[in-house]
Amino acid sequence: MVTVADTGDGVVPRDIDRIFSPSDQHFVLSSLPPSTAQKRLALGLVCALIGIYLLITFGPFAGVVLRRVDAFIPIYTTAVLVNDSMTAILLYAQFSILRLRSTLVLASGYVFAGLFMILYALTFPGVFAPAGLIGGTQSAAWLYVVWKIGFPLFVLGYALSKDAEPGKALWRGSPRAGIALSVGAAALLIVAGAFVCIVGEPWLPRLMLDSRVLGPNWTYVGIPIAVASVAALATLLIRRRSMLDLWLVVVMFLYVIEVPLVYYPTPGRFSVSFYTVRILGILASGIVLIVMVHEITTLYVRLLQALRDQRREREARLFTGDAVAASIAHEVKQPLTAIITTADAGSFFLDRDVPDLDRVKEALARIAADGHRAGAVIENIRETFRNEVRNRTLLDINQLIRDALLLEQDELRKHRILVHVEPHQHLPQVRADRIQLQQVLLNLIANAIAAMAAREEPRILHLQSTVHADDCVLVSVADTGPGVDAHDSERIFNAHFTTKPDGMGMGLSICRSIVEAHQGRLWFAPNTPRGAVFRFTLGAESGGRPRPGLHEPSRSMS
Ligand code: ADP
Repeated sequence: MVTVADTGDGVVPRDIDRIFSPSDQHFVLSSLPPSTAQKRLALGLVCALIGIYLLITFGPFAGVVLRRVDAFIPIYTTAVLVNDSMTAILLYAQFSILRLRSTLVLASGYVFAGLFMILYALTFPGVFAPAGLIGGTQSAAWLYVVWKIGFPLFVLGYALSKDAEPGKALWRGSPRAGIALSVGAAALLIVAGAFVCIVGEPWLPRLMLDSRVLGPNWTYVGIPIAVASVAALATLLIRRRSMLDLWLVVVMFLYVIEVPLVYYPTPGRFSVSFYTVRILGILASGIVLIVMVHEITTLYVRLLQALRDQRREREARLFTGDAVAASIAHEVKQPLTAIITTADAGSFFLDRDVPDLDRVKEALARIAADGHRAGAVIENIRETFRNEVRNRTLLDINQLIRDALLLEQDELRKHRILVHVEPHQHLPQVRADRIQLQQVLLNLIANAIAAMAAREEPRILHLQSTVHADDCVLVSVADTGPGVDAHDSERIFNAHFTTKPDGMGMGLSICRSIVEAHQGRLWFAPNTPRGAVFRFTLGAESGGRPRPGLHEPSRSMS
């Protein structure tokens, strides 16, 4: 199993399958903490609701009964049905990716609430028939009660199950089975509710005095509705973490104020409070839907952007890699050919009956000169990395680390590597070439993976970003592989130094060139208890420009 921690100050492993797959939790916006703006919006909404409540109960419209509008209930029930069904569909879609039981419970609640609307419309007087198409005078009111107790209980179930241990939080079966079970359970409850409220109507206590006026029994049924809603609201408030939780708090708050509004100041249908309660009901059913739609559209835009970025980066990497390979091949080919030809000539002079040692010496000198020339060519290629400053932009290194891990996710998963990320929460930005820095990170991560792949577990890749010497960003990539022999610790940065059968030995050399071109340093240190740590620094951007002279750490750091 591969886990990732992205905690800032500490390291808390999480399941990488949920971090690094399409089910990536950080892509699921509703499971992210709400932003300050959202918290303010939610608070504003709650304050507005309190205002509406006070206005309706004590204001000039208190007790006013309006005209009976028969079209109102069908509009209301249709709106709630559509909102609830769409919310349920979106929650099921999220469930089939994340497989969280809590999402399934919440989705069941929305199915339950949505289907209840059909029954409610069928029983409500004046919608399909003057006295309701099915059921007696009390049926619609009792269905309303069951609905208003039932939905908060589902929300309570969600709130209680959402923070369960990973083993219990995840649905182990197929998503289809989960969804079928959830819809089936909700439908069963509806049937049971319908049976009690419609068939059992004659035996139920009277909630309505007639088709319009609520009787005193309402105060008793109001209690379980209030208890269920307040319990869900309180649990959500205590366990509130995500954006979804926050908006469910608002939904439950709406439920809580609905209980007294239904009875006070006018205990009957078609009053100002009756209409207000139902309009607020439409709002309540739409809140989570808006959150989910917002999530989907934002996610869609992000995915498109990520895909575009990935393609651009891949092309740029291939281009850089190709360019390096082509320039090496092209520039080094000539001195290499010369070396081979001269070496052949040298052996020819040695093979003579009387070896011509002067010519052999001359050939060896030419070979050495060509060798130096090849070295200079490579140095020249490194120089090109040093001088490229055109593409530098302000970068968030933590984001770059996340992007690099995403690009390597398949390899990490394949080799069952545990990834720990410790990003510094207030890391300053750096002005750098995004593609080149990403290449550095990808090279270091690829090397770490290669080093650990052949070793027994635990294989841990630890990436950390910190602020160094006040104005430098320090990134370290540590692994638990075999490490580097002491006498190779500087040689590994030489071009062509490799210990891999199919290695080119260019990676670290290119990385060092890139980092140095950014006025930083890249160095190696042994990891404890085993493995290697590669660290590099970059000058942080302060006030728009990097501060000179402070970003070179002393070698003793390593
Ligand atoms: P290549 O990967 O093609 O060999 P590099 O320049 O990236 O080229 O690496 C040079 C050498 O440095 C590697 O062959 C390996 O011996 C050593 N090396 C690099 N990274 C690590 C690491 N994380 N752990 C152990 N050895 C490493």
